[in-house]
Amino acid sequence: MKYIKFKNKREQVPIGKIVCVGRNYAEHAKELGNEVPEFPVIFLKAASNVIYSGEAVIHPKYSKNLHHEVELVLYIGHTVKNATEEEAEKAIYGYAVGLDMTLRDLQFDLMKKGDPWTLSKNFDTSAVLSDFILRDEYQLKGNEKIFLSVNGNTRQNSTLKNMLFSPTKLVMYISEKMTLEKGDLIFTGTPEGVGRVIPGDKIFAEIENVGSLETYIVE
Ligand code: MG
Repeated sequence: MKYIKFKNKREQVPIGKIVCVGRNYAEHAKELGNEVPEFPVIFLKAASNVIYSGEAVIHPKYSKNLHHEVELVLYIGHTVKNATEEEAEKAIYGYAVGLDMTLRDLQFDLMKKGDPWTLSKNFDTSAVLSDFILRDEYQLKGNEKIFLSVNGNTRQNSTLKNMLFSPTKLVMYISEKMTLEKGDLIFTGTPEGVGRVIPGDKIFAEIENVGSLETYIVE
């Protein structure tokens, strides 16, 4: 079982489901040749895929195109269903930096066949998490910088202002489709600049005032 770790708190909360949002930044949707969506694109990641900052991402042998995606991650702190704007806001207890590691070659193959993306998004070590900061300690403004570098070279550099659907809107939308519970996480999508990493590469990712993480790729 995997746990949510907090920056300034000893409690560890078991991770429930991980709901991920695709195409939540217009420039990223465009760079992969996709339309800007009318509704958020939703998929799931298994909690067993989680690793923490400082640990290694294992490059699956069956892919030749492992991509990094830096994302703001939301921590849901209590049960919420069909959330109003106010309820959605209150259900978000904290934030972290996450990497939604993606097998882009598999994803394109699966999309072409009309099959689910599941295997391109779910493999051991495919979800990297920083510690979480609680909303009591930091209230997200929505214009924080989001950044990722590989071996010291900037790859992704944007701001949360460029999100198409805000954290509150995402919780409202997702909770309409499925009950969100304490310990569930929401990966809110990645800005443009996604790209390939290979064994030996070092990734650093940061969201201003939220936190940072480091990982490296191994065979
Ligand atoms: Mg993503």
